Amino acid sequence: MQQEPDASSFPNGGIRNTFEARGYSAWDISSPAFILDHTLCIPTVFVSYTGESLDYKTPLLRSLNSVDKAATRVAKFFNPEVNHVICNLGWEQEYFLVDEALYAARPDLVMTGRTLMGHESAKNQQLEDHYFGAIPSRVEAFMVDLETEAHRLGIPAKTCHNEVAPNQFEIAPIYEEANLANDHNLLLMSLMEEVAKRHNFRVLFHEKPFAGINGSGKHNNWSLGTDNGILLFSPGKNQHDNFRFVTFVANVMAAVFKHNGLLKASIINATNAHRLGANEAPPAIISMFLGSAVSSILDMVEKVDSISKISIDGKEKITLDIAQIPELTLDNTDRNRTSPFAFTGNRFEYRAVGSSANNASALIALNAAVAAQLDDFANVVEARVAKGEDPEAAILAEVKKLLAESKAIHFDGNGYSEEWKQEAARRGLDVETSAPLMYDSYTRPDTIEMFEKTGVLSRKEIEARNEVKWEMYTKKIQIESRVLGDLAINHIIPAAVRYQSLLLDNVFKIQQLFKGSKADTISSQDLVNIEAISDHVQAIKSGVENMINARKQANRIKSEREKAIAYHDNICPFMDQIRYHIDKLELMVDNEIWPLPKYRELLFIR
Ligand code: ADP
Ligand code: MG
Repeated sequence: MQQEPDASSFPNGGIRNTFEARGYSAWDISSPAFILDHTLCIPTVFVSYTGESLDYKTPLLRSLNSVDKAATRVAKFFNPEVNHVICNLGWEQEYFLVDEALYAARPDLVMTGRTLMGHESAKNQQLEDHYFGAIPSRVEAFMVDLETEAHRLGIPAKTCHNEVAPNQFEIAPIYEEANLANDHNLLLMSLMEEVAKRHNFRVLFHEKPFAGINGSGKHNNWSLGTDNGILLFSPGKNQHDNFRFVTFVANVMAAVFKHNGLLKASIINATNAHRLGANEAPPAIISMFLGSAVSSILDMVEKVDSISKISIDGKEKITLDIAQIPELTLDNTDRNRTSPFAFTGNRFEYRAVGSSANNASALIALNAAVAAQLDDFANVVEARVAKGEDPEAAILAEVKKLLAESKAIHFDGNGYSEEWKQEAARRGLDVETSAPLMYDSYTRPDTIEMFEKTGVLSRKEIEARNEVKWEMYTKKIQIESRVLGDLAINHIIPAAVRYQSLLLDNVFKIQQLFKGSKADTISSQDLVNIEAISDHVQAIKSGVENMINARKQANRIKSEREKAIAYHDNICPFMDQIRYHIDKLELMVDNEIWPLPKYRELLFIR
C-alpha cells in the first residue's frame, strides 16, 4: 500500500534537506493501476516525512474533496437528495509532430522543446488548409496506433484532428471524474511520446514550439455534477432548475473574480508564458465569457424580486432551405475563442492551461476557489434562513449580490484587443505579464487563507511550491539561454562567416576581371550583403556576451524569486534580440551552408 521513495532529490522548495530524505508514496485507489512496458504502475500520492504534499495529486484530491462538500451543501438547497458532487474534466490535448530526423538536427528542439530561432516560412497557416484539410496519412497511422494503445489502458480517447498551425494536432477523450481524467492525460502524454517514435515522429508538448504560428494549449472542460446525475452548470427545463443553474454560475463568477490572479498563476510557467498574450492565445488576463443568452439571464436575475420571473428560452433552431439538410439546433452560447475561461453550454472551458501542463495545477486553484466561495455562500444563506427568511428569497438576494460584486470578471468581447488590456486594468483584474511576479498571487493573504480554509494547501506547502516554481523558471530560461548562445556562436556565426567569405572572394574576382566603375556596379549588392552580414554577426556576438554577463549577475542572487525576476527582466530580452539577427541571417545565407533545418522543412511533413 505504501512505498518509501527519496523525498530530498525531488524538487521540494526547501521542505526536505538532503540529509533528511524520507518520503512516502501511497496508493490512490480511485485511479486504476495499469500495466505499461511490462511494469505494474500504481497511481500514488507523494508526501514528505513531515506530512507536506510534494506532488500534484494530494492537493488535487483535497480540492476535489472540498468542492464536493461545499457544492453538495449548496446543491441540497435545491435537491435535498444530493449526497455528493463530482468534478468532471475533459481535456483537449494539443501537440505538434516533427519528423524524428529533423528533430535530431535541431539542438534547440532536443534541449528545450522549442525552436529558439528560425525565420517564419513563407507559407504557414494563412490558408487554413491544414486546419480544414485531411489528416496527413503518416499522422493518421500514428493517431490510429495511439488511440488503440489508449483504449487498451482505459483512456477514453475520442476525437483526433488537425489543429490550426501546420503539423499541429489535437486529441480529446470523453470527460471523466477529474482525478482519473488527469491521470489519464499524464499517461496519454507519455504514451504519445512512445507511439510517435514508432512512426519516426517526435511529439512537441511545448506551448510555443514555433514563433509566428499558433501555440498549443490544453483546454480544461470543467464541470460539477451530482451523484444523482444533475449537471450543475446546465440550464434546466423549469424555473427551479434554472434557479440552481444561476446560483452555481454566480458562485463560479465570484470565485474566478476574487482569485483571477491566482488562476493565472496556476497555469503560468516559462513555456506557457510564450503562448499567453501572444496573438492567437488567451491574453494574460483571466476573464469569463458567458455568451448572450446567459448574460441576459443574469441581467434579468439582477432585476427580479422572485424566482418565478426567471425564464430561460429553449434552444433556437436554424432552418436552411435545403430539403435534405435537417433543422440545426443553435447552442445557447456562441464561441468566443479569445476567452481564457468560457461558458460552453453545460461546463466551463478553462483555455489558458498550457499543453505541457499537469492539469492538476489549474484544477487545484479552481476547485479550491470555488469550494471556498460555495462554503461562504452556504453559510450566509443558512444564517439568513435561521433568522426566519424564506430560503428562496435568501438565495436570490445572495445571488444578486454576487452578480453585482463580480461583474468585472465578465467579458464577452475580443480578448486579443489592446483596449481590453486597458479596460481590464481599469476593472482591477490582474494584468501582470511577468511569470515570476504572477506567482506572488499564491502568497497573497487572501489566497493563503482560502487554501488553508479549504484544507487544500498549507502556507508551508504554498511557499515551498513557489520556491520550486521560481527555481524551475530560472532553470528553463538558463537552459534556453545557454543553448541559444552555443548555437549562435558554434553554428550560426561560422556559417554566416563562411558565406560572407564566399561573397568576398566573388567581389575580389570581379574587381580583377572588370576593374573600375563597372566592377563596382556588378559587386555593389554583394558589398551591401557583406556589410549586413558583418553587422548581424557583430550584433549576435555582443548580444551573446551581454547575455552571458547578465546570467552571471543573476546567478549570484540568493533569493529564488529575485533570481527568476532577473532572468525574466534581464536575460529574456537578449534572447529575442539575438534571435532577430539570426533570423535575418537565415534569409541571406546560402541555403546549402545554413546548418539547421528551417521552419518550412520542420512544419510541412506529409
Ligand atoms: P471543442 O469543440 O471545444 O474542441 P472537444 O470535443 O474537442 O471540444 O472537447 C470537449 C471536451 O469537453 C471533451 O473531452 C468532452 O468530453 C468534454 N465535455 C463535454 N461535456 C462536459 C461536461 N459537462 N463537463 C466536462 N467536460 C465535458
Ligand atoms: Mg477540441
